[in-house]
Amino acid sequence: MKSVGINGYGTIGKRVADAVSAQGDMKIAGVTKRSPDFEARMAVEKGYDLYISAPERESSFEEAGIKVTGTAEELFEKLDIVVDCTPEGIGAKNKEGIYKKMGLKATFQGGEKHDQIGLSFNSFSNYKDVIGKDYARVVSCNTTGLCRTLNPIKDLCGIKKVRAVMVRRGADPSQVKKGPINAIVPNPPTVPSHHGPDVQTVMYDLNITTMALLVPTTLMHQHNLMVELESSVSVDDIKEKLNETPRVLLLKAKEGLGSTAEFMEYAKELGRSRNDLFEIGVWEESLNIVDGELYYMQAIHQESDVVPENVDAIRAMLEMEYDPSKSIEKTNKAMGIL
Ligand code: NAD
Repeated sequence: MKSVGINGYGTIGKRVADAVSAQGDMKIAGVTKRSPDFEARMAVEKGYDLYISAPERESSFEEAGIKVTGTAEELFEKLDIVVDCTPEGIGAKNKEGIYKKMGLKATFQGGEKHDQIGLSFNSFSNYKDVIGKDYARVVSCNTTGLCRTLNPIKDLCGIKKVRAVMVRRGADPSQVKKGPINAIVPNPPTVPSHHGPDVQTVMYDLNITTMALLVPTTLMHQHNLMVELESSVSVDDIKEKLNETPRVLLLKAKEGLGSTAEFMEYAKELGRSRNDLFEIGVWEESLNIVDGELYYMQAIHQESDVVPENVDAIRAMLEMEYDPSKSIEKTNKAMGIL
């Protein structure tokens, strides 16, 4: 049983903690918090040992009546690997300033720069390249969404070129200080956006160009893809391939799943904790092939799609499983992923 710690128990960190706890071959040794907020209190109530990443604030946890087990450094000493889920830019500093010095393996999130971590990860793209490595970054929620559907299409019929337009949520549901509230923002306003090069950190030879917009919604991202195929296939072949791909769901707008809001409602009906949708939803009606070019639209739950990838990254880096499909199967079974 491998010991895993979470540094930064926020949106991604708390989900990865629960996903790791659900697995049979790894356990959570502890999570870190900086502030004695409701998430810290609930982490302790759930049974996680809580460690402080800002030791000078220990008295504020005492005053709030939240039990602290020790400092983050004390947690790190007990671990086989840490999952760094701190806000973007902090992970890279932790790598150099803490983990390297302690000889501790670490996975990072998509907010970190690929060059600073040195290796990126997606379960379906490059699992084997990360086996036994000390540091890897799970690519961002948008990049994970692109890889999840582009990999099976590439396997089926090869890809000459991808163009994608991403409509991104302005903020996560709890982020009251972010926007936009009433605007569509080209983000970045330059073309191409960074998402294409980010996909290439795990799908090394893919020809992909991306553009992105921010819109006033918090629920999900939405992607519009145009994919020039290498060999001739039918729309039914693509449907069949996506249907059999783990962590991808075909949605039918005609069944009432015509929007991101309705897709989130589906997650509630599934009874998922936090209404999470680890799967990428592809609108079945959007799939079409015109002049050898495949068109489709998909939805990405930004708060949760990277969570199973973090579990697989742990298995690869700790050499717990050499076969990506076996790790994906174990992770999915433990998390109830469709
Ligand atoms: P978050 O703000 O929800 O959580 C970050 C947590 O880290 C908070 O609990 C914060 O208190 C804590 N923290 C801050 N500074 C710290 C420090 N120095 N040491 C330890 N803990 C510290 O952020 P998030 O949305 O979970 O994002 C974390 C990472 O995941 C980022 O790289 C982000 O880009 C990436 N990511 C986020 C999303 C998303 O939609 N939220 C999706 C995919 C990837």
